[in-house]
Amino acid sequence: MTESKPSQITLLGATGSIGVSTLDVISRHTERYQIHALTANTSVEAMEKLCIRWSPAYAVMSDETSAKELSERLQNSDVETQVLAGEAGLLRVVQHEDVDCVVAAIVGAAGLVPTLAAASAGKRILLANKEALVMSGKLFVDTAKENDAVLMPVDSEHNAIFQCLPNCLTSHHSSVKITNQNTKAGIERIWLTASGGPFREYSADQLHDVTPEQAVNHPNWDMGKKISVDSATLMNKGLELIEAYWLFDMDIANIDVVVHPQSVIHSMVTYTDGSVLAQLGNPDMRTPIAHALAWPERIESGVEPLNIFDVAKLDFERPDLDRFPCLRLCYEAIKAGGSATIVLNAANEIAVSAFLDEKIGFTDIAVLIEKTLDEAVMTEDVSSLESILEADRAARIITNNCIAEMH
Ligand code: NAD
Ligand code: MG
Repeated sequence: MTESKPSQITLLGATGSIGVSTLDVISRHTERYQIHALTANTSVEAMEKLCIRWSPAYAVMSDETSAKELSERLQNSDVETQVLAGEAGLLRVVQHEDVDCVVAAIVGAAGLVPTLAAASAGKRILLANKEALVMSGKLFVDTAKENDAVLMPVDSEHNAIFQCLPNCLTSHHSSVKITNQNTKAGIERIWLTASGGPFREYSADQLHDVTPEQAVNHPNWDMGKKISVDSATLMNKGLELIEAYWLFDMDIANIDVVVHPQSVIHSMVTYTDGSVLAQLGNPDMRTPIAHALAWPERIESGVEPLNIFDVAKLDFERPDLDRFPCLRLCYEAIKAGGSATIVLNAANEIAVSAFLDEKIGFTDIAVLIEKTLDEAVMTEDVSSLESILEADRAARIITNNCIAEMH
């Protein structure tokens, strides 16, 4: 690998938390990886700096105005980056024939179209954008398989599980089919660990008064605002449950959530002989990113080695579905099937954004999601991108109406 030509990377969501961690890992291995394209929403200044640092062939901004501004700023530099805009720009840099690997690190539903396009184009996909998989489930996994895309989980829990699976399951995969082969592989159960978030010990009353500032302040992980709020409501663990269901094709009854406040064990797999395999490490996303980039090889990530003596103690608790109803709603949505998980994800995105804008309270997030799930007309047809996007659009309207009624 090190002697072949460098792998060309398109990094979707370059200015975000995962984007920055990915570039940090790549900066340590420029002989192996080259940046072909970087994308961001509207943060022109941050993108200008990244383009000057990385000289990508392309940069993509979400709208024409930001693209124009970036292009003008880059004219004063030596960089020859071509600036594109919108969905068409994203599709171009994802499907480009020179690109080997797409890092899907846009937050939310906005990442679905380009991430699915990367699967259609048969790229190696480093999947951080869990919402894309939560929305498109079977369509995404099938598309990856049909086109020989290699699907590498970056989410720390799923990456940990992947690392704990036997080679016979992971050696030629686009997603790992455990169900069909579990007798052979002896897998009984998957454990998703959860830190419990900043409000793990809060009473229902205390949760009521939580502010956005408190919610984005995660005890163990430094992440974007949306996923930080999702971690505080435990919605993040629920989305990860759905993500694991699709990635590993495992019966939901065999996937468990365990609260582990130290965030040192990133997830576990129980085997039929009584063995439990776990992946441990400091909570730093550069480890799963480096693993997903280099697999089946291993590369240095910049992460400090885990000092097990400093950790000293590992605690485990059951999640409390009464205080954290978002996790319960995820279990229910996955059991309901069809468009329920799309509706849940859309309602959550709208509710989290309203919470961050101080339009609703913390505990209203779950209330709004439940209301939207009750009111939405569910469909079984989630087999095309159009039907998925339609279910997403319709759910957003319902949640926005519910918020309007609250004022
Ligand atoms: P972030 O908010 O820090 O960054 C999001 C990136 O997406 C930014 O580059 C932003 O410019 C871009 N973006 C936002 N909206 C966009 C839009 N409408 N169109 C195009 N681009 C847009 O988020 P993050 O924490 O880096 O998370 C990214 C994804 O990775 C999320 O799906 C999250 O759940 C997942 N993830 C993150 C972590 C973490 O530690 N941060 C861990 C596991 C999974
Ligand atoms: Mg995670």
